[in-house]
Amino acid sequence: MTKFRIIKSRADSLVRLGAYSTIATPNIIIPTSRGTIPHLTPENVQKHVETPAVFVGLEDFIERVPMKSPIAQFGHSLREYISLLPSSHEIPIFLAPRRSCPIPTSQQNSDKTFSIVTTDGFRQFEVIEYLTLASTLADKDTVILAPVDMPMLISTTKSEGGYSPWKHIGGNRVRKMVVRNEMWSEAALQICAARDVIVPIMPGIKLPDQEEFINKVAVSSAGLTFYDISSPFVPESCAEKLTSPMTGSSADIASLPESISTFARINLAYHNGPHDVLESIAKGYDLFCADWVVTATDAGIAFTFELEQTSDETLPLGISLWENVKYATDLNSLSDDCECHTCKNHHRAYIAHLLSAKEMLAWTLLQIHNLHVASKFMAQIRSAIEQNQFDEASRKFNKTYSAKTQATPGGGPRVRGYQVRLAGLVTDKKLNESPFRSLD
Ligand SMILES: [Zn+2]
Repeated sequence: MTKFRIIKSRADSLVRLGAYSTIATPNIIIPTSRGTIPHLTPENVQKHVETPAVFVGLEDFIERVPMKSPIAQFGHSLREYISLLPSSHEIPIFLAPRRSCPIPTSQQNSDKTFSIVTTDGFRQFEVIEYLTLASTLADKDTVILAPVDMPMLISTTKSEGGYSPWKHIGGNRVRKMVVRNEMWSEAALQICAARDVIVPIMPGIKLPDQEEFINKVAVSSAGLTFYDISSPFVPESCAEKLTSPMTGSSADIASLPESISTFARINLAYHNGPHDVLESIAKGYDLFCADWVVTATDAGIAFTFELEQTSDETLPLGISLWENVKYATDLNSLSDDCECHTCKNHHRAYIAHLLSAKEMLAWTLLQIHNLHVASKFMAQIRSAIEQNQFDEASRKFNKTYSAKTQATPGGGPRVRGYQVRLAGLVTDKKLNESPFRSLD
């Protein structure tokens, strides 16, 4: 089992420097879509992108009958199936039942099944099937996430501002969550015993109520997943109703029992950008999904931020290449002194042109740049922690950069189903407008 190593921590702070497998933490896990880092081919990933770890949601590969899906018949490892990296490469894969930023489903979980969104629509996936499949697909550098029972239902009644993403959940449902998570995590540790298994700590449920789970189950795991209150997994009613949500408040991480205090902590809440990442690190988390990088790339934004930057005026996190008038003749690189493949070979005008022509290469080049900026940012954070300057650097960053992301007209070459945003955005509106219109 891979043990999380703490390299540096301080008694007066939850911020820590560590290493999990080949990942130096704090760090980002890069999300994938059907096994691919959006917009990048495996060759591009290998040549141009620093990849600390990737996150793969098995639901992306599941079809009508889960165990008859091509991935279940494959017979080799997930690493080979997604051709993401050659098998000699030891980049860790975090294999989860659902995507890193899952869309709500319309079906309830049961004791033995949980609801997923597949290419064929909403499906029930048996816990045992998931775990069996995960254990056969995982190689030694694949970390398996135990399924988590959190209600992810779309309310069918329309309220103000569209469909509300959550149905109200009550006390009985919460008790079920606790029981199921214990059951499912136990099964995960048993079935996937040969691999590293990460189990969930439930949000919104007091620590003493999870004590049995922690002592009996979590102690044998390789790490913990947390679902902060902002997580797309956590229903609002749950967050409001239950007192003292244990995740989302730093005091609670501090009071994690000694037995699991040295475990890797993965925060699976949706991080909206670097500001959220800094907040998460301050709360004591080690790893987070970088969905925000993909969101920015899809929107045609090139990041220009870095940790140590001082400015009298508030700076944006990036530039919108859709502003063709502004960048049509701009021969500068996307951001000054950037060492990425895009910045070394192309200028803003070229990428702005590709973008307005809706050439897919635009998003490829942007993704290479944005992932480079994000990974440099994480390296700067680690060195700030090393030098005991994290708090100061983080305060400066929050003051220098605006947390608001720009609105851009772009949404990737073509908006896909998984890009449906969660909160309140489940509407009847089509994602992509029809390219054909009547002539008048
Ligand atoms: Zn660059």
